[in-house]
Amino acid sequence: MPTVVPVDDASIARAAALLREGKLVAFPTETVYGLGGDATNGQAVAAIYAAKGRPNFNPLIIHVADAVALDNLIEWNDIARLLAASFWPGPLTLILPRRKDAAISLLASAGLDTLAVRIPSHPAAQKLLRAVGLPIAAPSANASGKLSPTTPLHVAESLGDKADLILAGGRSQIGIESTVVNLAAGAPMILRPGGITREQLEMVLGQKIAVFEATATPDAPASPGMLASHYAPNIPVRLNAESAEPNEAWLAFGADKQIRPCAARLNLSPQGDLNEAAANLFAMLRELDKPAHAAIAVAPIPAIGLGVAINDRLQRAAVR
Ligand code: AMP
Ligand code: MG
Repeated sequence: MPTVVPVDDASIARAAALLREGKLVAFPTETVYGLGGDATNGQAVAAIYAAKGRPNFNPLIIHVADAVALDNLIEWNDIARLLAASFWPGPLTLILPRRKDAAISLLASAGLDTLAVRIPSHPAAQKLLRAVGLPIAAPSANASGKLSPTTPLHVAESLGDKADLILAGGRSQIGIESTVVNLAAGAPMILRPGGITREQLEMVLGQKIAVFEATATPDAPASPGMLASHYAPNIPVRLNAESAEPNEAWLAFGADKQIRPCAARLNLSPQGDLNEAAANLFAMLRELDKPAHAAIAVAPIPAIGLGVAINDRLQRAAVR
């Protein structure tokens, strides 16, 4: 049985302590309930994907208490300032360039050079974010492919005890997800309609705003373009490799069977822990992606649990 506690000072303090330990806390926001984890902790972020049973690594929205908390994470621009001043705290998510030194796990942004950021208005979310003092990655608190939860009961039914704590704060006021606006590339574009309408955005911007055309099926990513922009290594990626050639970089998993020398080597998880492997995946791919290496040879990853999402990402990385 999941632990469900009403929002009060004691439960907020307990939730903040759990988040700092890398645990997962479901909490109310004005849109839907979120499943939060420390966005700076790759293992906590991996645990979010595992809890949701996501078959791929969709980038997660990073939640903070106020705009100042974003200064170290993203590159501001004028439109972002304007939308932030008009709609935050509230149901708006902005996609912005990620600062090079942002202390956010690469897994949280699925290897992208951008971050999705939001300042929720729900008083409990605000209190929690202030208490924890860390950026919190939080997708909707439901199993992948299921409806977004708007009550603590929905969360408990969907995630069971996969959330270490569920903060119960009543029914979500808005009940649909935040509007996602891309400000990282060219003219602003709505990637996902949500709690803030297109008209509200256009009123503030004083210009028309395009809406991304979702041609994909509901289960496919909201934006195929977003997938295309996922981090892809510049050098070839060779999957299910027994071992690396001398001119290849070797990305091992579990007991490392590579005996002969190779160009470079890293291990996603020497213990064979898929959670740890997910947390390391994007950072290690980047580290091995050097022109001097002929390719990145990757050991087989079991297609169970988070291994499904890891293999999905590796297969995309291997397509050239
Ligand atoms: P959810 O996980 O249900 O809260 O949904 C988050 C939404 O934000 C998904 O549609 C993601 O694809 C989108 N998203 C998150 N980060 C980014 C990013 N860096 N670039 C583009 N879209 C993003
Ligand atoms: Mg969702």
